[in-house]
Amino acid sequence: MIDLHCHILPGIDDGAKDMEDSMDMAREAVAEGITHILASPHYKNGHWDNEKQDILSLVDEVQQELDARGIPLTIFPGQEVRINGEFFEDIEEDKLQFIDEGNQYILIEFPTPTIPQYAETLFFEMQREGITPIIVHPERNHAILKDPNKLLSFVEKGALAQLTAASYTGGFGKEIQKISKQLIEANLVHYIASDAHNVGSRSFHMKEAYQKLEKEFGPEKASEYHQVTKDLINGEPIYTATPQPIKKAKFLGLF
Ligand code: FE
Repeated sequence: MIDLHCHILPGIDDGAKDMEDSMDMAREAVAEGITHILASPHYKNGHWDNEKQDILSLVDEVQQELDARGIPLTIFPGQEVRINGEFFEDIEEDKLQFIDEGNQYILIEFPTPTIPQYAETLFFEMQREGITPIIVHPERNHAILKDPNKLLSFVEKGALAQLTAASYTGGFGKEIQKISKQLIEANLVHYIASDAHNVGSRSFHMKEAYQKLEKEFGPEKASEYHQVTKDLINGEPIYTATPQPIKKAKFLGLF
């Protein structure tokens, strides 16, 4: 299994505090069947500004430690970029770390309460430059929770979206679990990642999520999601099912 969203790098955000924490997370990941992790520390989220060069050197350090301890896990450099107005300046200054070596796919986070007005224009400009934004955990964004079809318009225009494992398994509550399932059903998310921060309250839940996915949507859906994660890391084109609108539940009043 490939996990494309994880705060495993030590001491640089609200994920692993130190190298021992990183190793604990790595052991837990391996126990769940994860073989590859994209380390995706926060960038410009108001608290942390982890730039590409720092990420690259920490990924090397963690990999050396994993190898020294014989933990069978490969770490790739990534970054969770909070949407901001300096995207192209940051590219110019080589501060951004894409998922793939060809600099095509990048993780973009919306602020929790809203979707900024400029997101649509920014995504359009990214895509014009051959960059595909991947919206991380849309199911936890309040604007999307209120109206899931806000995500539809981004996906229809070519953005991808990542569901968080624990959202789907119920770790963030019933409402988020329900919308997670609806987003899968409507082809509005394209793969599952952990967004793990530790081995406690924000652990991986990847095995459980994929088991649930197989049970509810069949093994084809699970292999489709696995394939997307491979293609993203390899910088290959992604084949996705056509996104559908989510019908709002109609409550027929008695009077
Ligand atoms: Fe994250």
